[in-house]
Amino acid sequence: QCAIDPKSTVTDACTSYSDLDTLNRDIAPTLKELTEADFFAYYRLNLYNKVCPFWSDENSICGNRACAVDTIDDEDDIPPIWKIEELSKLEGARAQHPGPGQRKERTQQRPLSYQLGENVDESCVYEADDECDERDYCVPEDEGAASKGDYVSLLNNAEKFTGYAGPGANQVWDAIYKENCFSKPSSASPPTNTGLHAAAELRNIFQEHGRQNLETEHDSASLNDQCIEQRAFYRVISGMHASISTHLCWDYYNQTSGSWFRNIECYKQRLHSHPDRISNLYFNYALVTRAIAKLNKHLQSYTFCSGDPDQDLETKAKVRKLTGHLASVPNTFDENMLFQDPGMMDLKDDFKQRFRNVSRIMDCVGCDKCRLWGKLQTAGYGAALKVLFEFDENKNGENPHLRRTELVALINTYGRLSHSMEATRWFREHVNAHSDGP
Ligand code: FAD
Repeated sequence: QCAIDPKSTVTDACTSYSDLDTLNRDIAPTLKELTEADFFAYYRLNLYNKVCPFWSDENSICGNRACAVDTIDDEDDIPPIWKIEELSKLEGARAQHPGPGQRKERTQQRPLSYQLGENVDESCVYEADDECDERDYCVPEDEGAASKGDYVSLLNNAEKFTGYAGPGANQVWDAIYKENCFSKPSSASPPTNTGLHAAAELRNIFQEHGRQNLETEHDSASLNDQCIEQRAFYRVISGMHASISTHLCWDYYNQTSGSWFRNIECYKQRLHSHPDRISNLYFNYALVTRAIAKLNKHLQSYTFCSGDPDQDLETKAKVRKLTGHLASVPNTFDENMLFQDPGMMDLKDDFKQRFRNVSRIMDCVGCDKCRLWGKLQTAGYGAALKVLFEFDENKNGENPHLRRTELVALINTYGRLSHSMEATRWFREHVNAHSDGP
């Protein structure tokens, strides 16, 4: 038995790949239905109002129609319960979004129904997302932004080929992989970079040296030198990159014929010839599966609000079906293997700050649709890491707050991974059929 744990090497031939395929076949229909439910299909994010904090991206803006995002400009198209003015209708202390400290105090003092008004759960209201808990792995969506963001229908803005490529796109990927350079941990080392230090460090690199031509793939020698936490970080990024590549190959645009098609050559070049990338995709699936399984208990009492009570009941039933299933299978990922060395206390902070920086780098993506899905998936992995490393599944009420946007990002990221696994299987079968042919 070889589990896809952070110690396994990218070349391990794991029987658990087929276990994950089987699991995915079982849960994919429910997961797909969930991503189509209103609660999970609308995502609120700051898509346009944040500037790239690291370099000027004016020359790498993608002008293709496929790069554009249709945002929901008409408030009437958003389930009323999430609109900002709904907050004013609420009674009690929660109507002013409390800071983390205050929230804890209030939660201890008063029942939630008092804070929100009768029968209104925290998940039902507009969330300002402007609070950063030290346990977050992602930057809250409106950090430093002038407005509170846009609602986007994820169903109307599918992740697919956009034509965004060239130096601008490469610079973003380079910067993301550059975050994987951890400082050498030791018990005597001073506190590692805060997010701002790391951000400044990155900005300097780009300003002083221009675009770095970094080798982003890890060879096996350098992998062996890394601690498992660093390797896990790399695999999360590479697995996300592999999933994005899979979707752009799956829905590829032929500019000559004007048609969309599944581009097998694209898959061969970007994924098939790099089995480590596919391995990292499975790694992410195992990691996110475990995070969602860990939320099973927490989500039992969660209220899903979209303004349509029948649909909300259905959503809740499907979430319970999904998390119940995931919690019933053997653990797919052992988070207890990471951050265990007492001599590496700073490592977790470093990991967290670096992951937050990846979410900041997403504001440098010059294609709106790519930025939408890049931000959503980074937020989804951030939520998964928060659940894995900050949640105790046996405790109730003492775990960090999981915002609605985090849950929506988590489920949709899982949906993307699930579809990527189905798509790579389809591609693999076609490549194999072709090579076995006459
Ligand atoms: P890139 O994919 O840009 O890769 C750059 C380098 O990274 C490669 O040369 C290779 O050395 C390395 N690399 C590639 N894949 C991996 C991996 N999985 N693991 C480790 N290393 C790897 N384009 C779209 O059409 N649709 C989208 O939705 C979309 N979303 C994007 C989201 C983000 C956040 C970014 C940064 C880009 C996105 N793009 C999207 C662009 C797309 O990812 C590519 O950058 C583009 O197609 C150009 O591809 P490329 O061949 O230059 O290689």
